[in-house]
Amino acid sequence: MKENVKAYGAKDSKAELEPMTIKRRDIQKDDVEIDITYCGVCHSDIHTVHNDWGNSVYPMIPGHEIIGRVVLVGDGVSDFTEGQLVGVGCMVDSCQTCSACKDDMEQFCENGATMTYGSKDKHMDDHTHGGYTTSIVVDKEFVLRIPENIDEKAAAPLLCAGITTYSPLKNWNVKKGDNVGVIGLGGLGHMGVKFANAMEAHVVMITTSPDKADDAERLGAHEVLISKDKEAMKKHQGSFDFILNTIPVGHKMDPYIALLKRDATMVLVGSVEPLDPFNGAGLIMGRKRVAGSLIGGIKETQEMLDFCGEHNIVSDVEMIDMMDINKAYERVMDNDVKYRFVIDMASLKK
Ligand SMILES: [Zn+2]
Ligand SMILES: [Zn+2]
Repeated sequence: MKENVKAYGAKDSKAELEPMTIKRRDIQKDDVEIDITYCGVCHSDIHTVHNDWGNSVYPMIPGHEIIGRVVLVGDGVSDFTEGQLVGVGCMVDSCQTCSACKDDMEQFCENGATMTYGSKDKHMDDHTHGGYTTSIVVDKEFVLRIPENIDEKAAAPLLCAGITTYSPLKNWNVKKGDNVGVIGLGGLGHMGVKFANAMEAHVVMITTSPDKADDAERLGAHEVLISKDKEAMKKHQGSFDFILNTIPVGHKMDPYIALLKRDATMVLVGSVEPLDPFNGAGLIMGRKRVAGSLIGGIKETQEMLDFCGEHNIVSDVEMIDMMDINKAYERVMDNDVKYRFVIDMASLKK
């Protein structure tokens, strides 16, 4: 066992993140040991640290947008070699035998996937610890190859924000020429715009703030629809083949459902809290659908990363040092980041 691995974590739900040390297991036959170079800061990290979902365990070391280099592999590992650029996302294990796992959807593992942080650790008498640290040991099935041609620090957010938005676009078959709306321009929304653009859809950024228009267009939106503009919303009624809804909190759904074409779907990826009541007629008239989507399986995450390599897609990031994490959390909560913070883990290794 490796002891005294430097990390940043929270002692309890009220505490700020502070320096800590953690243990990592000795490498097993199927394990890959990774020296972490970068880790993205996801809104879920903050919710979990604050115990907003009521299931947090402490000390909590968050971080599930992990990039690093392989330092050691177990005897049973042939797909990864020392020095290779790799990533780890939201999961580090699952049962591998249930129907969801067999269908390459480990995120829906019927026996409960082992999340990267805060899950029961199968190897040690502990819970799992995430990426706000210098090293991690992960089963090879949950290690991803990062294309060497993309900017590695800006690739970190692909592991959560990227797959969260790529998966629904693929699952609902977004294709060339489709009219696709992306609601909300944050960590998720800005990735949704980039992916939908790369899939050759006509991309419409749907936002409350007109000041986001220029940025949306720079990221790949062909049009910007201001949701507070009633006339503009009316003009776009019944025109969308697909809508990706990244709003992170409860909100009114009716105005967005009205934008869908007959038989079209709006997929929620942001809000895990109660939504405002919405009118069933909005769905019935036009046989429309509202659905949800959660990250993506490992196979699909690899497909997304390869797609990013091909199309040179990464996240827009602001780099921070580990010690600045509490300030960064404040700014994420104030919606003041373009569009993802990434921690330079060299700052923790000093
Ligand atoms: Zn996340
Ligand atoms: Zn399973």
